[in-house]
Amino acid sequence: MTLRQIDIGPQYLEEKEEFLLEKIADVKKRLGDQVMVLCHHYQQESVFGFADSTGDSLKLAKDAAKDRDRPYIVFCGVHFMAESADILTSDRQAVMLPDRRAGCPMADMAVIDHVEWAWQELEKVVSGAKIIPVTYVNSSARLKAFVGERGGAVCTSSNAERVLTWALSRGDKVFFFPDEHLGRNSAIALGIPEDETVLWKRGHHMGGNRPETLAGSKVILWDGYCTVHMQFTADHIRMWREKDSDIRIVVHPECRYEVVGQADKYGSTETIIKTISESEPGSKWAVGTEINLVNRLSRQFPDREVHSLSPFPCLCSTMYRIKPAYLLWVLENLAVGREVNRITVDPKTAEKAKLALDRMLAI
Ligand code: SF4
Repeated sequence: MTLRQIDIGPQYLEEKEEFLLEKIADVKKRLGDQVMVLCHHYQQESVFGFADSTGDSLKLAKDAAKDRDRPYIVFCGVHFMAESADILTSDRQAVMLPDRRAGCPMADMAVIDHVEWAWQELEKVVSGAKIIPVTYVNSSARLKAFVGERGGAVCTSSNAERVLTWALSRGDKVFFFPDEHLGRNSAIALGIPEDETVLWKRGHHMGGNRPETLAGSKVILWDGYCTVHMQFTADHIRMWREKDSDIRIVVHPECRYEVVGQADKYGSTETIIKTISESEPGSKWAVGTEINLVNRLSRQFPDREVHSLSPFPCLCSTMYRIKPAYLLWVLENLAVGREVNRITVDPKTAEKAKLALDRMLAI
């Protein structure tokens, strides 16, 4: 969800970055154990340097939940991540998103009203079949709650295949939200025939499908996508292979199948980091994920060649909204006891969403 952000004023927005960074270091020191700054792997370097914990969205939410003594969690990520942290942390902890406009376009592609409408249509067409909903963690708390309420589970890019297997063992069909590509790549990895995976097009009657196609399907994919990972193409892979036969390709499963299928390896951000860090010095990599992570890996491993798979920088522009000025603004307000940009999930939604998250953790 993309929310409105108040104007934080020229005293933050017009300051030089050097000055802002000094002030962040100072106020963070003053706040001490009162605050925990969490940074996603895609965060820009000037903010990433202040992280108490780094990781993918779920790892960060779990880190926040483990450290129950810190009353303030400043989540340098996007909106759905802050929501997950609010769901998993205690009532005594407050989660803040430095810039409320930091939403995730993919999560926003599965609006709950549209999902409910699609679910009702599907239930009518395949009446008698048991449908299990699964949602990628990159989704709103309301969608997670919808899934939790209907016996489904959340998944991440590391465990999507496992969660899909679990869901198929419990029902006849899986409705997978919101990322078409993570769903498709996982279904292919599990050997589900192509004609048993169908795409549900948002805004179309029966998702643009014929009743018999839906009746014969096993996996129904919502047609959401990540605007960053969609920028990588099979042509980029061909280009690198022609240029350098020693290059290896590692990509995120939010990329299209034509990219994932031709890569040497694919996996979550944690898998990508592990792959590069465990590779031999001198190895060469073209990486299909967000540019801040690719550049960081390149700096961290100067004895390896780490390039972006795309010749153009693929930036998560919403996460990029979390700039030092906004981080400082939140921290300075906390230092005087003011909670700004707090992200909360109402208790009923949180309870149902937690069911879906807990199911995933138990799988
Ligand atoms: S990288 Fe893609 S999925 Fe992740 S927050 Fe950005 S738009 Fe959303």
